[in-house]
Amino acid sequence: MFDESARFGAELMQPGLNAMDSEENNLRPKCLEDYVGQEKVKQNLKVYLEAARRRGEPMDHVLLYGPPGLGKTTLAGIIAAEMGVQIRITSGPAIEKPGDLAALLTNLQEGDVLFIDEIHRLSRQVEEVLYPALEDFALDIMIGKGPSAQSIRINLPQFTLVGATTRAGQLTGPLRDRFGVLLKLELYSPDELARIITRSAGILDQPITPEGAYEMARRSRGTPRVANRTLKRVRDFATVLGDGVIDRDAALIALKRMDIDALGLDELDRSVLRAIIEMYNGGPVGLETLAAALGEEAVTLEDLCEPYLMQMGFLTRTPRGRCVTQLAYQHLGLQVPAAPAGKLPHPDDHGQQSLF
Ligand code: ADP
Repeated sequence: MFDESARFGAELMQPGLNAMDSEENNLRPKCLEDYVGQEKVKQNLKVYLEAARRRGEPMDHVLLYGPPGLGKTTLAGIIAAEMGVQIRITSGPAIEKPGDLAALLTNLQEGDVLFIDEIHRLSRQVEEVLYPALEDFALDIMIGKGPSAQSIRINLPQFTLVGATTRAGQLTGPLRDRFGVLLKLELYSPDELARIITRSAGILDQPITPEGAYEMARRSRGTPRVANRTLKRVRDFATVLGDGVIDRDAALIALKRMDIDALGLDELDRSVLRAIIEMYNGGPVGLETLAAALGEEAVTLEDLCEPYLMQMGFLTRTPRGRCVTQLAYQHLGLQVPAAPAGKLPHPDDHGQQSLF
């Protein structure tokens, strides 16, 4: 059984890279200097990295949390690069059995970074194996069954676990407590996204003006992955319909063709707001009900749409469900209903902190 999972573990650590992954990889910053924004996270991380280097120890275990596409995987790679060690990449759902994790851990080299994406999706059984590995760099393995069963301890190389999750709230207390460093990534400002777009355009050899970069940045939902994707699509339009340069006009034409509106909302975002308004009188409506009405997965709405809609002040989360704000009506060009005072939440009530 151990041999078999060792083989499986090796596969887990080399997840098949497809064309998209490698394109995304090209655009990933490789060092902290190139990692745009997240200043607080970077400043603290620099100190922790320097301290670990001076002591000649691996960095403490790190938990990165925040919505998808904000740079968690990128940051894990940077931590490994800054420490001069290798990174092994896997994800919570890929580690099905304790043996899979044991195989991963026993294949690590001294100091390596093990990156587990979607760490909130680890099973309890696997988590139990992880605890002594994180605390004592050891694995407790049961040999045999029944009264003759005995536990043996295998020492592991010292390593750094970097866990990433979109939902820190779903991590069990014991797992969260075993991370020495917790870093929350925030949505990016348009200026930061414009810097990311300009950097990516440079790597892609794509001529771009500052105004063109800014138009795309404003509409990229605070998310670098969206910004890079927007850049690639706008580049297609500029190549085929324009002179190949992305200036403000080229960006505007392409964004309109892609149905991305002036504030960066796409068709799905608008249909979320419209559904709450038209089917549920502006809310409150439960997430599952809303997702079923739209034919979407609840997690898609929760992870992809809601952080930005809340950040923009269009949506609030209340204990009774989701509500739209007056701003949402105004943005969609709809008449704000004459509600009893206090019925429509004010955009300032959006309670972003309840996200995590
Ligand atoms: P996550 O793991 O949080 O889903 P990723 O690390 O995969 O996000 O980032 C998605 C893409 O966004 C990457 O291709 C990377 O190039 C880009 N990116 C993310 N954060 C930054 C940043 N701070 N600076 C520059 N590019 C970034």
